[in-house]
Amino acid sequence: MNRLKIAIQKSGRLSENSHRLLEECGIKFSNGTSVLKTSARNFPVDILFLRDDDIPQYVEQQVADIGILGENMVFEKNKDVEVLEQLGFAACRLSLAIPREDVFAGPEYFNNRKIATSYPRLLSQYLSENNITAQIEEISGSVEIAPGIGLADAVCDIVSSGSTLLTNGLREVITILKSQAVIIGNKNLDDEKRSILEKFLFRIRSVKKSRENKYILLNAPEKAIGEICKILPGMKSPTILPLVEKGWCSLHSVVREDDFWERIDQLKAAGAEGILVIPIEKMII
Ligand code: ATP
Ligand code: MG
Repeated sequence: MNRLKIAIQKSGRLSENSHRLLEECGIKFSNGTSVLKTSARNFPVDILFLRDDDIPQYVEQQVADIGILGENMVFEKNKDVEVLEQLGFAACRLSLAIPREDVFAGPEYFNNRKIATSYPRLLSQYLSENNITAQIEEISGSVEIAPGIGLADAVCDIVSSGSTLLTNGLREVITILKSQAVIIGNKNLDDEKRSILEKFLFRIRSVKKSRENKYILLNAPEKAIGEICKILPGMKSPTILPLVEKGWCSLHSVVREDDFWERIDQLKAAGAEGILVIPIEKMII
C-alpha cells in the first residue's frame, strides 16, 4: 500500500512543534534519535527526519511527498513545490541588522558593505529591488557573530525576539520577510497519496481550529443573556440551560481566545459569573 512520506526537521527549532502536530493529528510513531525514517503505526505515513535546508529539494524530487519547515527556507530555496497550509508556529522574520552604534538613514546604508547571511537568494533579491550594491558573505550558521569577528559589516538573519542580535551588539533595521512554519508538497502526487494528504490536512485544520478556540461556560441572570451574546463575538448559537436558582441560566459556547480576553470585564459588568474557559481537544467543522 502507498504511504505518504512526510519530512520534518531532525533536530532544531521546528522539531518539537512538528512532532506535537503529528501527535495531535493522532499519528503515532516511535522516535529514536538516531533513526532517519520511521513508519506511523496507525496512519499510512512514513516520517523522514532531515535538515530543514534539504526539505524543499527532497520534496521537489519526491524523496519526501510533503514537508514541514519555515517559509523563510521555502522562499530561499525556491524549489518547484506547493505551499499547502500555514501552521501558525515558528513565527520569525528575516531582517537586516547593523552594529548598534551606527547611524541608519535608510537602505543606502548597505551600499558597498559586506553582509553575512545564510539567505543569499532572498538578500540579493532585496538588494536588487532597492538598487543597492553590497557584497554577500554566505555562511551557514552563527551569522550574528560575523560583524564582531570582522567577517562582515552587517547581517541578514532570522530574528524572533531580537535578543540574540542585542547580545551581539546589533540592531535590527529592516525586515525583509515574515515567516512561520508551513507544509509544502510535491506537485505530482498520485491519487492515492493525494487522498492520504487530504485526510492529513483535514486533521491539521481541526487541530489548528481547536488551538484558536476555547469552550466557554458562564452563569448569568436570564435578562442579561441578550447583552452577553452581544459582547461575545462569533457566538452564533449558544446553548442556554436553566439553573436550579430561578431566573438564572448557564450559557455554553465556543469563542476565539484572542477575542475573549478583551471582553472579560464587559462580561462581568453585564452580570456573568463563574466563567470557565476550557481548551478544546479537537474541533471538527
Ligand atoms: P538544521 O540543522 O535542520 O539545518 P538550523 O540550525 O538551520 O537547523 P533552526 O535554527 O533549528 O535551523 O531553525 C529552523 C527554522 O525555525 C528556521 O528556518 C525558522 O523558520 C525557524 N526559526 C529560526 N529561529 C527562530 C526563532 N528564534 N524563533 C522562531 N522560529 C525560528
Ligand atoms: Mg538549516
